[in-house]
Amino acid sequence: MKPRQPIIGLTTYERSGEVGFSLPAEYIDAVRRAGGIPVLLPPGEPHQHELLKLVDAVVFTGGGDVDPALYQGAQHEAVYLVDPERDSSEVELAQAVVEANLPTLTICRGIQVLNVALGGTLIEHLPDVVSGEVIHRDTPEGYVQHPITIEPTSRLAQIVGQTEVNSASWHHQAIRELAPGLKVVAYAPDGTIEALEMPDHPWLIGVQWHPESTAADDPTQQRLFNALVEAAVQQARQRSNHWSR
Ligand code: MN
Repeated sequence: MKPRQPIIGLTTYERSGEVGFSLPAEYIDAVRRAGGIPVLLPPGEPHQHELLKLVDAVVFTGGGDVDPALYQGAQHEAVYLVDPERDSSEVELAQAVVEANLPTLTICRGIQVLNVALGGTLIEHLPDVVSGEVIHRDTPEGYVQHPITIEPTSRLAQIVGQTEVNSASWHHQAIRELAPGLKVVAYAPDGTIEALEMPDHPWLIGVQWHPESTAADDPTQQRLFNALVEAAVQQARQRSNHWSR
């Protein structure tokens, strides 16, 4: 029997003004190109565990900063767009996808939420700790490109098919102390943590950069979404076996 197309849930940005909940279309396009059916998961849902029964994988998307209070961090003047509703929903969702062994890709803010949800901490403002030129954020509008070095034995390296990739980057925070259970699998040239995996989880990858922003033209970045959807197909198959028993 042909497996059904997997449903991929994507977190959205916080509610804001007249726009409300939103998500850049690049995330949706990347999931569709990979063969997944995207659905949006806005914050504030009190029934997260029910919601997770309906999706075969989750993408934690980019956005504003995590409240430093959630990791006993310092309030910093550079911290922006903190949203308590989004923070609490996504922290709960991150713990739930780990518990449920659901295939998960976390991007930019997403990798930070994941780390905080599992007990890790963040660097509140990279320019405070990185010496020399800060390569991770250029203007408020545009991405910057910087190289990433990936651990050769990692799942991430296997997926993208190489250990040096160029990444579209826009972040001023990064992981400081890694949460228990997570493993760093990529770094920027200045030592900033750029990707992680969870060895005890069937498929969980976090990246600090924005694969969705270049995936349309860069097969290396699209492969991350393809691999997530493949993992979601397996997940959907296991579930249909479960229900047909
Ligand atoms: Mn970066």
